[in-house]
Amino acid sequence: MKIAVFSTKPHDREYLDKFNSNDRHELTYFEAPLNADTTNLALGFEAVCIFVNDKIDAVTIDKLFKIGVKLIDLRSAGFNNVDIEAAKKKNIKVMRVPAYSPEAVAEHAVALILTLNRKTHKVYNRVRESNFSLENLIGFNLHGKTVGVIGTGKIGVAFCQIMLGFGCKVIAYDITESEMLKDKGIEYTTLVDLYKNSDIISLHCPLNVKTKYLFDIKTFSKVKKGVMLINTSRGALIKTSDAIDALKNGQLGYLGIDVYEQEENLFFNDLSESIIKDDLIERLMAFHNVLITPHQGFFTKEALDQIAITTLKNFTDFEEGLLLENEVKL
Ligand code: NAD
Repeated sequence: MKIAVFSTKPHDREYLDKFNSNDRHELTYFEAPLNADTTNLALGFEAVCIFVNDKIDAVTIDKLFKIGVKLIDLRSAGFNNVDIEAAKKKNIKVMRVPAYSPEAVAEHAVALILTLNRKTHKVYNRVRESNFSLENLIGFNLHGKTVGVIGTGKIGVAFCQIMLGFGCKVIAYDITESEMLKDKGIEYTTLVDLYKNSDIISLHCPLNVKTKYLFDIKTFSKVKKGVMLINTSRGALIKTSDAIDALKNGQLGYLGIDVYEQEENLFFNDLSESIIKDDLIERLMAFHNVLITPHQGFFTKEALDQIAITTLKNFTDFEEGLLLENEVKL
């Protein structure tokens, strides 16, 4: 099958080529993202393969339909960037990689917690300048702290288990509860109780109409003052302008984000020689208690292997008319 692969970086080519045995699928790589302005690149292809910052709205779907695209295959678990309803109307199948390495993202969330808390990013630079002072490096013990987890699916489960290992009390909120986590001593609470009692809150639910701006000024008024908030899920779970206000008034004590609501204009690119026009991220970057990573939670060798294997399997399943195990349904 001829597939146009969008938003490709060198690692995408490396891992897809590694598992595309005997060039089973004909992959054409584009660095450009797929959106309403770039659909012409997909002309002559039966399938497009996309990533988290490609924007597949109803207009894009309509254009893809007109040029004969029949499959949209995501190299990610999240699919909030695709209008699934519009695709269904045009009978374009949407597939994804539902699980590749939940531990990769969970471990990155923990890396954000440890770095923000023990300030290893700051001391690394200080020591290189022969500054061995302990000034402003005070952290807190994770042992005994209460960690609130919103969304206990695959990544949330992996995250809860790591935090239990630190000796934290883990409380959780999800629309469906995990019996396995309850057996391990995790207590499900209401959102309000989770906000009130958590020293650290980590977000692991998907972005959808119900969860957009889950953290806005109202929510920040309900959290324990000085809470640490970690988001490795999707940027728009947090209203950035409200997070900035909460950081200014101290309600939010630390913010660690691997995702950002306007990340498509920034992440995955080297902008070191550009003028950044996004004032919100510039303001966030100025806080000493904010840590931003560029959507790298998934970025481990194990996860990249699995993403490539499942992505290629999705192409094969579609081409051979097999059951579409990884289809995204409404
Ligand atoms: P999952 O589907 O296994 O789990 C999501 C959980 O969220 C489910 O248990 C679901 O019931 C729960 N949920 C749904 N709506 C909710 C709501 N309104 N309130 C509370 N909980 C709700 O997904 P996953 O594999 O654990 O991934 C979670 C998210 O992580 C994805 O949606 C994706 O956005 C993000 N992600 C980020 C990266 C990264 O590199 N940073 C990589 C992969 C996934």
